[in-house]
Amino acid sequence: MNALVSLLYLLASVLFVVGLKKLSSPKTARQGNGLAALGMLIAIVVTLTDQKILDFTYIIAGLVLGSGVGVWLALRVQMTAMPQMVGVLNGFGGGASALVAFAEYLRLSGDKDLTVWTGQASIDVLVTIVLSILIGTVTIVGSMIASAKLHGIMRGAPILYAFQKQSNAVMALAVIVLGVFFVLDPSLWYLLIIIAGLAMVLGVTSVIPIGGADMPVVISLMNSYSGLAGAMTGFVLSNDVLVISGTLVGTSGLILTKIMCKAMNRSLANVLFAGVGADYDPTVQATEQRTVIRYTPQDIATILESAQSVIIIPGYGLAVAQAQHVLQELVNVLTQRGMQVRYAIHPVAGRMPGHMNVLLAEANAPYDILLEMDQINDDFQNTDVALVIGANDVVNPAARTKKSSPLYGMPILNVDYARTVIVCKRSLNPGFAGEDNELFYNEKTMMVFGDAKDTVTKLVQQLKA
Ligand code: NAP
Repeated sequence: MNALVSLLYLLASVLFVVGLKKLSSPKTARQGNGLAALGMLIAIVVTLTDQKILDFTYIIAGLVLGSGVGVWLALRVQMTAMPQMVGVLNGFGGGASALVAFAEYLRLSGDKDLTVWTGQASIDVLVTIVLSILIGTVTIVGSMIASAKLHGIMRGAPILYAFQKQSNAVMALAVIVLGVFFVLDPSLWYLLIIIAGLAMVLGVTSVIPIGGADMPVVISLMNSYSGLAGAMTGFVLSNDVLVISGTLVGTSGLILTKIMCKAMNRSLANVLFAGVGADYDPTVQATEQRTVIRYTPQDIATILESAQSVIIIPGYGLAVAQAQHVLQELVNVLTQRGMQVRYAIHPVAGRMPGHMNVLLAEANAPYDILLEMDQINDDFQNTDVALVIGANDVVNPAARTKKSSPLYGMPILNVDYARTVIVCKRSLNPGFAGEDNELFYNEKTMMVFGDAKDTVTKLVQQLKA
């Protein structure tokens, strides 16, 4: 029986690995998701059967309640609020790991009143109980703060105060010391409660100094933490598949964090500790009156008709307007006219990693015309038209020149090197980072104001007429 359980756990783990690998390309991502889900189903069924659970009442009640809330949330959530949703789900993962580790401690203690420790647990189990409670609690609290910031419930800008790093370091040290005391004497159960309390405070104080455009990094880091907490709980329970799946989540979250940092040209330490953007006040922008010329979709259609190459830059506004289908229709119309049309995807465009890829896949955009920033950035100088649809920060030249800007140092798509730049958005309002965009005032930029879906629909109608 044990051999069969191990074999099925191995099968589940292989499905996780293959599923993850397939997630790395939009072509195979759906299949990858299905394989990983099948792996999880096998892991759950095997665990429930292997553990010879006598009473399924709580398990079924939890399953019904959890699934109900999950389905309700998933159906209600807007595509634009997905990062917050992912943040909340990461948090639940971490919280669950912490609770399971604590429950296992209670089970091992041997005395339900916890007055004496008569249980038996090896040092590695006790150490991983502490780590699981610590990382899991930091994850749930940190994720909730990050989600609240992204959702606008909390101020998005970094919140800094005196001796912030020092006080965090003292709390982290205190957790280590208390953890050592607990491992030496596991009857001191209240130390676990104090550790959880300190971890809650650390969850708040380690996330509030991060803000603005750095939030996606925090979400992916919390994703990594939730995996680590799960892996620690796997050690507590001696459950191989939990160790493996937790480690996969932990490492893939860390790789994603690294990719996001690279996209912003920043180190992880700089994102976590520098409080970038804290002094930045978007209301104190240059107040000099500048004007832009307002163009109509008809004017733009004329420009597009005479172009031979077009690069489309989608951004968050595309998601808000849900203009992906009509945009792909525009691409088809232009391609039928013999034009070379491609999409340029910035790694942090939108509000979650891969946001633009997901939207455009929904509209059946061919994968071979979706190009990453590094693949296409040198082509703008030989391109007739850069068509910016609801993007702002990812094309903001302040990232190259303005040292005080929260965007400074982030590589951007070089749209201003194209012969003509067309920007479709509703107003001159700034993007996520709150930074005014010089591109709008560039002499080769044509601004078309309005909802992206309306503008692109009019463009398509004009070009088809
Ligand atoms: P952005 O800088 O937030 O700008 C989006 C623009 O879309 C806005 O300026 C807005 O201008 C316009 N817009 C909104 N609704 C629209 C509509 N219905 N029709 C037309 N335009 C509309 O977006 P981005 O260039 O994609 O850059 C992403 C930013 O979000 C970066 O700063 C990134 O760091 C941050 N972020 C990314 C992630 C991630 O994982 N990708 C997660 C969180 C945050 P108007 O109001 O004038 O229309």
